[in-house]
Amino acid sequence: MGSEPATENRVIRRGFDVLVAGAGPAGLSAAVCAAEGGATVGIVDDNPSPGGQIWRGDSIKTDSINSSEAARWVGRLRAAGVQEFCGTRVFHQPEPGVLLAEGEESLFQLSYGKLIVATGARELFLPFPGWTLPNVMGAGGLQAMVKSGLPIAGKRVLVAGSGPLLLAVAAYLRQHGADILMICEQASWSSLARFGLALLPQAGKLSQGFVLRRQLSGIPFMAGWWPVEARGHGKLEEVVISQGRSQRTKTISCDFLACGFHLVPNTELAELLGCHVRNGFVQVDDFQQTSIPGVFCAGEPTGVGGLELALIEGQIAGFAAVRRSESARHLFGVRRKMRSFARALERTFSLRPELRSLPRPETIVCRCEDVTYSRLAQHGSWRASKLQTRCGMGPCQGRVCGPVTRFLFAWSPAPVRPPVFPARFENLSAVACKAEAEPSQVTGG
Ligand SMILES: Cc1cc2nc3c(=O)[nH]c(=O)nc-3n(C[C@H](O)[C@H](O)[C@H](O)COP(=O)(O)OP(=O)(O)OC[C@H]3O[C@@H](n4cnc5c(N)ncnc54)[C@H](O)[C@@H]3O)c2cc1C
Repeated sequence: MGSEPATENRVIRRGFDVLVAGAGPAGLSAAVCAAEGGATVGIVDDNPSPGGQIWRGDSIKTDSINSSEAARWVGRLRAAGVQEFCGTRVFHQPEPGVLLAEGEESLFQLSYGKLIVATGARELFLPFPGWTLPNVMGAGGLQAMVKSGLPIAGKRVLVAGSGPLLLAVAAYLRQHGADILMICEQASWSSLARFGLALLPQAGKLSQGFVLRRQLSGIPFMAGWWPVEARGHGKLEEVVISQGRSQRTKTISCDFLACGFHLVPNTELAELLGCHVRNGFVQVDDFQQTSIPGVFCAGEPTGVGGLELALIEGQIAGFAAVRRSESARHLFGVRRKMRSFARALERTFSLRPELRSLPRPETIVCRCEDVTYSRLAQHGSWRASKLQTRCGMGPCQGRVCGPVTRFLFAWSPAPVRPPVFPARFENLSAVACKAEAEPSQVTGG
């Protein structure tokens, strides 16, 4: 014991039949279905409470379970005895069957028989002049800040970018007193009309659409428009929007710009485990099993398809992980229908090529390392730009600028290496000490 690293006392070890990474709708439903089948289950999430992006914050009253769908899943999770590790982020796989996760004060070593990766998605941001000004925020990011207490009542907010998240965020901010000036969607009216037709067979989606329409009544919706510049002295004062083809522009005075260009799946953990990823999505079989036996994936990493698809995939993965194949099979039909919605989303909100010319030479693309568009444009690949400019080497580790350079320059990201998230020095050194002691058991790095 004398040769153990000094950090060893802080390492908390736990083992589960099934471990779930991510406690959004997909992870919650997966954990519930696995635990109700009798398995010991742990669930780990970097947010302070379960719920993921959509159910973050005020929709879950964790102590007094209310009647919302979120609270029902959390209630079942607790009734089934699932062990929760919230505020805890998975950052490394030291050996197959073991994940390391960092909490506020502890390092967790979580071992498992089966793993379900349900790490969700994040927003895609595109750089344009002024996008680094204070009060220019991600649409979901602004929503999250309001959920955490940022006062928004009476503030003038322009919502812009692409995807249905813009509508959900605009509705949420309006409910909390924001003055939503307009919503600019880069997709054209004709693609949106085709999307509407694709929704006709899906009664649930249509009725959600009508509810949103009512909540957003009176707010101008501008299809085929997008932001080209944010201006202000020290913080945002106005945004220039453009209707690209006609070259028409308008300047809108506002306090906040809530801006995001649809979602990018969080595939880094799955990639670290060696799961096969194609076109940016984790590949799974009918039972949501990845190319690595015993590792399942559910929710947005397999395709961006919204809440219902995440819940269904989570349930299938949870049942499959505890070998309840028949229960999983019952859900295949619903999933097929939901996946057609995911494909329609992908077609409708694919980004138009004009958005590639948004940045000027001096526009910062990598915000962590202050790397401008013109410096990146001198290189031919993600790897070369990383070596020469430090693009992607800051705290976001390429999570923000990686997808941007993929869109702007068609660069492929480099293979994922541990740690998948920045981790505290003492926890990284604990990993390094273990690697030294047992070199054959620790993955690359
Ligand atoms: C910023 C944002 C806001 C959104 N807001 C809305 C909304 O208001 N309305 C709406 O209809 N849809 C919203 N969506 C879309 C919604 O999240 C999806 O439709 C769906 O609910 C996804 O469920 P999921 O379980 O796949 O992922 P998520 O809900 O994203 O859950 C994944 C969870 O995994 C956690 N995680 C990821 N990596 C790690 C790790 N390494 N260690 C520990 N935990 C990890 C994440 O923090 C997250 O809590 C939003 C999406 C985003 C990105």
